[in-house]
Amino acid sequence: MSDITEIGHFVGGRTVASTSGNTSPVYNPATGQQTGAVALASVEELDAAVAIANAAFQEWRSSSVAKRTEAMFNLRNLVKQNASELAAKITAEHGKVHSDAMGEVARGLENIEFACNIGEMLKGSHSNQVSTGVDVTTIRRPLGVVAGITPFNFPAMVPLWMIPNALGCGNAFILKPSEKDPTSAMFLAELIHKAGFPDGVFNLVNGDKTAVDAILEHPDIKAVSFVGSTPIAQYIHRTASEHGKRVQALGGAKNHMLVLPDADIGLAADAAVSAAFGSAGERCMAISVVVAVGEAADPLVDAIAERTRALTIGDGMDPASEMGPLVTREARDRVESSIGAGADAGATVVLDGREAGFDGDGYFLGCTLLDNVTPDMTVYQDEVFGPLLGVVRVPTLDDAIKLLEDNPYGNGTAIFTSDGGAARQFTEEAPVGMVGVNVPIPVPVAYHSFGGWKDSIFSDTAIYGPEGVRFYTKPQAITTRWPDPASSSVDLGFPTN
Ligand code: NAD
Repeated sequence: MSDITEIGHFVGGRTVASTSGNTSPVYNPATGQQTGAVALASVEELDAAVAIANAAFQEWRSSSVAKRTEAMFNLRNLVKQNASELAAKITAEHGKVHSDAMGEVARGLENIEFACNIGEMLKGSHSNQVSTGVDVTTIRRPLGVVAGITPFNFPAMVPLWMIPNALGCGNAFILKPSEKDPTSAMFLAELIHKAGFPDGVFNLVNGDKTAVDAILEHPDIKAVSFVGSTPIAQYIHRTASEHGKRVQALGGAKNHMLVLPDADIGLAADAAVSAAFGSAGERCMAISVVVAVGEAADPLVDAIAERTRALTIGDGMDPASEMGPLVTREARDRVESSIGAGADAGATVVLDGREAGFDGDGYFLGCTLLDNVTPDMTVYQDEVFGPLLGVVRVPTLDDAIKLLEDNPYGNGTAIFTSDGGAARQFTEEAPVGMVGVNVPIPVPVAYHSFGGWKDSIFSDTAIYGPEGVRFYTKPQAITTRWPDPASSSVDLGFPTN
């Protein structure tokens, strides 16, 4: 047991051991060995963290924008300096290859850089002389203590979708990371502390459903951001709303990539393989369905298969590896059974990841390519969330768009074509929140905002960027007049301008 690291919480500016007595094992997916035991907070531990955050908020809310910006710049530099170490911590518990984890850190950094400009975002608006001698100013105030509940698949980036804007706007934050890979978020907590954010402004409480429910019910938590699977997103949205909180809950996905016959097939195949098998398919914006339109299908399936066969799968810390293991044994077993279900339902198995044959106890699985998938198959309907790509063949672009209309999810989609008119029809008609034209993973940069439609989000606001600032603030309108006492009189009429 000696090489198993105890992972507690980070509260009030320091790491603290848990008192709950409950832990959950953390594994290195490349070896299958347990490396950590993460604390599962009790309700009392969560309550104590909220009390500390609330006390810190009372000062932080009125800290100068200059002070908050300075801490944000420091954090930006610290994350950049420690990017490789942060990425290694991601790889050690998630399994994705180190270069991909570096990409995750880079996309997280963008959100810190956006929040370095928080003064611009909080500028507010002013109307002069709305009535004689009367001015109106609208400013945005922080909410108080806000919480983030995050998934395993981007253990550093998704917390960074939330934390910079929340803190920059003057809130205090409680993060509840995934219990599968909490160490990179614990490292981020240390960097946030080193950057100069006052103790208690940022806190990390590890845990499971007990901690989540305590967050959802706590009267001093004013807003909850959630990213994870759709059933839990629905539960979070409903429960947090019932408790009077502002809530944004982002859920799962089934992202379709359309390929028209006029597309460059080699380019489309490169994009499909990258977007389907990068991070072993464990991305909410991964492409899990290629919709091959008309005669694109045969050459496209051949080109995808050829490229997929050439991929190197191995330990994420080996620079030769392009794809790592899945996050847990259960995740790997679930994807294996989806392959079987697809084959049993009549899909053509072009490549079977179960046949890859790996030594050792890591949670490795090869890449699977299923052709002739149809919408009635569970392998089409389920998110799957692994290295499994299905190809659906349709005759026309209209048929392809119909698939998107009928799908309950609406996170990301893409079209590959050289026809501007077809691309425009697609962007006008696709009922999806993030749309790519010759871009397979259209994740918006940090100064736009991220969010799907339909069952991929339960919220009025998208996450990060300008929508994130709106989510973490409430408007206050201040009407000002400095009347001349000489002209003052009692007037019981409703004020008009
Ligand atoms: P998950 O829903 O299992 O867990 C997410 C968080 O919820 C974790 O912190 C977990 O501890 C907590 N949780 C799990 N079960 C709970 C319960 N019954 N009650 C209360 N809390 C609970 O998701 P995951 O497996 O960690 O992540 C993968 C999922 O996240 C995929 O569906 C993926 O599409 C989705 N995701 C979506 C986005 C997006 O932006 N839309 C981004 C990343 C991941």
